[in-house]
Amino acid sequence: MCGIVGYIGTKKACPILLAGLSRLEYRGYDSAGISTIEKNRLSLMKVKGRVKNLANLDGIDNLEGTIGIAHTRWATHGKPSKDNSHPHQDNSKSFSVVHNGIIENYNELRKFLTDNGYSFYSQTDTEVIPNLIHYYFTKDIANDELKFLRAVKNACLDLKGSFAIEVISKLYPDNMIVVRQDSPLVIGTCEDEKYLSSDIPAILSYTRDFYLLNDLEFAVLTRNMVKFYDKDLNKIEKQTQNIEWNASAAEKDGFDDFMLKEIYEQPTAIRETIGSRINLDNKCEFDELQFTKKYLNNLNKIYIVACGTAMHAGLTGKNAIEKLCKIPVEVDIASEFRYRDPIIDEKTLCIFISQSGETADTIAALKLSKEKGAKTLAISNVIGSSITREADYSIYTHAGPEIAVASTKAYTSQVVLINILAIYFAEILESCDIKILNNIKKDILDLPKKIEETLKCNEIIKNFAKTIYQEKDVFFLGRGIDETVAKEASLKLKEISYIHSDSYAAGELKHGPIALIENGILVISILTDSNLVKKTISNIQEVITRGAKTLVITNQKLDKNMFDKVIDIPETNCFFSPILSIIPLQLLAYYISKEKGLDVDKPRNLAKSVTVE
Ligand code: GLU
Repeated sequence: MCGIVGYIGTKKACPILLAGLSRLEYRGYDSAGISTIEKNRLSLMKVKGRVKNLANLDGIDNLEGTIGIAHTRWATHGKPSKDNSHPHQDNSKSFSVVHNGIIENYNELRKFLTDNGYSFYSQTDTEVIPNLIHYYFTKDIANDELKFLRAVKNACLDLKGSFAIEVISKLYPDNMIVVRQDSPLVIGTCEDEKYLSSDIPAILSYTRDFYLLNDLEFAVLTRNMVKFYDKDLNKIEKQTQNIEWNASAAEKDGFDDFMLKEIYEQPTAIRETIGSRINLDNKCEFDELQFTKKYLNNLNKIYIVACGTAMHAGLTGKNAIEKLCKIPVEVDIASEFRYRDPIIDEKTLCIFISQSGETADTIAALKLSKEKGAKTLAISNVIGSSITREADYSIYTHAGPEIAVASTKAYTSQVVLINILAIYFAEILESCDIKILNNIKKDILDLPKKIEETLKCNEIIKNFAKTIYQEKDVFFLGRGIDETVAKEASLKLKEISYIHSDSYAAGELKHGPIALIENGILVISILTDSNLVKKTISNIQEVITRGAKTLVITNQKLDKNMFDKVIDIPETNCFFSPILSIIPLQLLAYYISKEKGLDVDKPRNLAKSVTVE
């Protein structure tokens, strides 16, 4: 998963690389390392632990080189240790390599290289790469200007799996070569400087102009030029893309943590997501989509495929599409979907949701759906991300960069976007009373204000967190749309507080889980659907009878004396209630994590963008 950065220019590379790594630390933080070219020698400095440990290493300030690569790791192969951290070098120490991803055939390649006299110092899959490059480099008798590139290319064609790779060599002190396949890598460009990074925000303070690489495209970087090649080393032309996000959007802006900042950014993020999706004629607008009434009418099914939080946003999409468009929708976890031989044909529309657009399982599920003949639609927050390049159609949440590992504004913006998409489909299909649709649209436009209002529960939640942060188990209950929020709230709590929690459809409790309810256990319920509220209250009664403590998040008028704590949120249309009801629960997870003294933005074992299977 990891973060990689690179720099080639006129300034000292080391401070730029360290700054980039600390911005990418959300992607991995078990070890870090750097390699620069110092007067025709490759420097190599690595540590176990955080980027700050690397920044504090003796001698790091002496690195003078103006070209270098660096890495913050999320280990897949080999435990976090100095030896296993990147960059890795070949036996002759001529090439330094950083890698994000997994080399699936590394055992085979390691054996091949060992048979050819190479030895290995780490347990990583990555270490085969510099040695393979060296192998091909020494086998190549030609001595032309493409020799370095040919060696990297030949090595990469042997690799199976996913990779974003940066390579520097002491033999080519003015060059860097990069390539990617199913792992993210962007190239930022200024006149005589080039920046590389796993994501755009990490280098936004240097440039807004980016080149995006497709799978197995190679870039050869010098200070003032980037040349691109396909996998047969034919030259290709690329245009830069100008990115509108500004760098301060990726800074904390006075908040203690990115997560809190991102929770508070939700009114703005949702305004951006709505953007001009509802036009002056009060119609939903998706210019980038070309779905006709005939196509939508012919659909036998829509799949919504995603992982984690994005999958929970997908569940709200199922609710809206089925209710408004009467098309059956199945929501699936990408890692399951891709291996279960899903029934897909040209009458299936597959929608994929991924904040980063780099989620490996989701991308693989998309590729599979395309092969089976379905039309594919990607929902992502990152313009030009891999998933949007693979999909037939892409729409963006425009939530701005999300840095905290636990997703907040990306989730709510996904919920908004997929629900607007459902209305858009319903308008094309004429499958729903226009008055109902108009009311829903009115509610959409009110959402940012209502989010602001909901955020006022901050202090109450902060104080409540102080009373419950030592809980060992928490239960979340909901029915209908509220169950989707229960799932997301439970995930949020687990992710950043390390408290075990689970979510249940409230009516399902008595079919088993109620056996776990005992005196003092915390049960959190979400009640926003007036049609279901009485039913859920009966289920809450069942746990109160068995001694549970209760917290209720609601927009209904309830007898508050029944519960230990009630958080009122503004009323809105049922389709959008998850956007408001999740906010107190995002804050609760956040403040519990703070009470426990944990690293909210970088929870253990997790990384932001899951670019491995
Ligand atoms: N597979 C490599 C390793 O374990 C890279 C992991 C990553 O992408 O973070 O070192």
